[in-house]
Amino acid sequence: MARFNVINFEIRKGVVDLFPKNILQPLDTCGCGDVGYLTLRTLPIDLAQGVGKIHRVPIYHCKDEFCTEYTIPSAVAIRLEELAEGMEASGVRELDFTWNQGNSSSSGQTPADHSTLLQAFTLQFGGQKYEDARVVLVVPGECVFFQSRIDPSEYYLLRYEPQEKAKEIWFSFSKFYWEHPVLEYEDFLAWSEDGYLKELGCITKDEIEDLLEDEFGSTI
Ligand SMILES: [Zn+2]
Repeated sequence: MARFNVINFEIRKGVVDLFPKNILQPLDTCGCGDVGYLTLRTLPIDLAQGVGKIHRVPIYHCKDEFCTEYTIPSAVAIRLEELAEGMEASGVRELDFTWNQGNSSSSGQTPADHSTLLQAFTLQFGGQKYEDARVVLVVPGECVFFQSRIDPSEYYLLRYEPQEKAKEIWFSFSKFYWEHPVLEYEDFLAWSEDGYLKELGCITKDEIEDLLEDEFGSTI
C-alpha cells in the first residue's frame, strides 16, 4: 500500500478520529527536511484502472522551486486512501481533494466547488507573517487564526460565514485573548461557545487582503 511517500504516517487511526480530520498546522516539514508550508498540489495516484490524479491536495513544501520533495499530513494521507478506494469503485481517474463526504457531522453544506475554493483560499495563509501578527492555525475551508506579535495573548480569527444565496463569500473577523501557550482548535471551540469572542465585523473575501494589511501591516 505504498501509494504515497508519506513520512509521518505513524498516527494510529484511533488517535486521529479524536480530532476533526481537517485541522492542519500552517507549518511542518518538507520532504527535504526544511520548514514546510501548507500548500495545495496535484498528486499522481496508482489506481486499479491505471494512474490517476487528485488535485488540490494539502501538502507541506519548503517553497524552494527546485525542491521536488514534500510531505503529506497524516490526516490527508488517510483521506487519500479513502478517495482512492472511491475512485477505484467508480472508475474515476481525476478528482479534487475533499474532506469527509456525506459522513461529516458538522458543516459541509457548501457545494463541492465552493468548498474547494474556500479550502484553497484559507490554505494560502499557511505560514503567513505580517509586521504585527502571524498565522498560527489554519482550518482548511473554515478559518484562519492570527496571533499578535506585540501581545502574544492577543488573537484574531477570520472565519467563513456560510450565507445562503449570497453572491459574495463572507467572513467574520473577531478578536480574543488566549492565555494558554498553545492554541488548540478543540479547546478554542469549547471555550468560544461562552461568548468570549469580540466580533469586529464581517467582510467579503475580496476585502480580506486590505483588512489584514490595515490591521497587521504588510506581509514579511
Ligand atoms: Zn523542500
